[in-house]
Amino acid sequence: MDPEEFRKRGKQMIDYVADYLENIRDRRPYPEVEPGYIKELLPDHAPNKPDKWDDVFSDIERVIMPGVTHWHSPQFHAYFPTGNSYPAIVADILSDAIGCIGFSWASSPACTELEMVVMDWLGKMLDLPQDFLFCSGGKGGGVIQGTASEATLVALLSARTKMIRKLLETGDYIDQGQIMPKLIAYCSDQSHSSVERAGLIGCVKMREIPADDKGAMRGSNLKLAIEKDKSKGLIPFFVCATLGTTPSCAFDTVLEIGPLCKDEDIWMHIDAAYAGSSFICPEFRPMLNGIEYAMSFNFNPHKWLMVNFDCSAMWVKDSQLVSDAFNVDPLYLKHDHQGKIPDYRHWHIPLGRRFRSLKLWFVLRLFGQEGLQENIRKDVRLAHEFEDLVKTDHNFEIIGEVKMGLVCFRLKGTNDRNEMLLKAINEDGRIHLVPSKFRGTYFLRFAVCASGTTSDDVKFAWKVIQELSRKYLSDSSN
Ligand code: PLP
Repeated sequence: MDPEEFRKRGKQMIDYVADYLENIRDRRPYPEVEPGYIKELLPDHAPNKPDKWDDVFSDIERVIMPGVTHWHSPQFHAYFPTGNSYPAIVADILSDAIGCIGFSWASSPACTELEMVVMDWLGKMLDLPQDFLFCSGGKGGGVIQGTASEATLVALLSARTKMIRKLLETGDYIDQGQIMPKLIAYCSDQSHSSVERAGLIGCVKMREIPADDKGAMRGSNLKLAIEKDKSKGLIPFFVCATLGTTPSCAFDTVLEIGPLCKDEDIWMHIDAAYAGSSFICPEFRPMLNGIEYAMSFNFNPHKWLMVNFDCSAMWVKDSQLVSDAFNVDPLYLKHDHQGKIPDYRHWHIPLGRRFRSLKLWFVLRLFGQEGLQENIRKDVRLAHEFEDLVKTDHNFEIIGEVKMGLVCFRLKGTNDRNEMLLKAINEDGRIHLVPSKFRGTYFLRFAVCASGTTSDDVKFAWKVIQELSRKYLSDSSN
């Protein structure tokens, strides 16, 4: 493909993408294919001679689209949202064209410097404490990770190194090998599975604290567990609190957990992967109170802030503690300005990194803070609209409190009846939902996901759910 052909085909692809997103309502949100479907449609080896563009292009509809789950369909209500916007898409085209691997300042200065600026912009939008921002002139700052899972792992490994260094300095231990088996981290039993995984990868014990009736980790339960573990000779070093849990969007009580972590010299990381975007709205910002006790904080603009995957924003109070955990410095990566400005390769696991700040920059500028706030508020309004519809039907009940764009609900009665309803909904295919469970109670999650979702879409979804639920209402055995 030469530059002239690229201009032509690129424009054709932009038209295809615009048509796809504009008409996405016409597609069934959840695909009907069976595992292995694509193998049946493609040859078992790559072409020896170049294929023709038209053949490749027509295979998008023939091969790919039948197996796509359309996350940006207004009838998609599963998981949590994933961001998508034209500003982010065009910025990603530019990022791909520049194609730099911005591991150090010298490897592409704009890549590092734009990231520092937009992470400060975003931090200010969330009203983060000054010590998380570069502009404070201290050791804090923000970095774009690929995912919240990576952010939690980076936080845990940094906390682990911090604690090991502190203990070695006391002279009570000969080496790290004596300390590692005693280290223990904490999260709630409602935390995302990536937190448990961080413990597995970091080779430390992870204790799950039972959440309260609202799905929140409480300071008192955490305190009891810490005291018990200390009496057994274990060394608590890390707590991951969640703001907006995956099963039901519950909020851990950071204002209780934070002071406890401070007293015990435990690193508190806050995972607000989904709900974090809402804190740009002053009315939701109080849910982040207690952030001042955190050593690190993370949320995913690629979930609810119109930025396409991948863009996970992480701030740390002391970037030196992160570098200490990852710093290796071979000659071929060194440069003359080292030490004057961050080399982001010390802030995350991989060496290579994409120019992800471009899409965040385009989105922040082209929507403005007000545009992004309006999108959050619209989704929360739609969630409450769905909640009100559920409440009009005495056969259903709401589970927990609706605070963000997620509604947890179920048919009154057995779990079986709800499992069958969910199966019927997803087989029907007009809308797509996923389930969750809390203390043995199975329920359905309705998330407002696509930015194009309207009040009519919410009413449509409710109509489908009510219609499909009738069968299970008349079946008294359930
Ligand atoms: N933490 C929470 C609370 C989540 O809800 C999720 C995903 O939904 C994650 C972490 C994992 O996010 P990621 O895919 O960015 O690792």
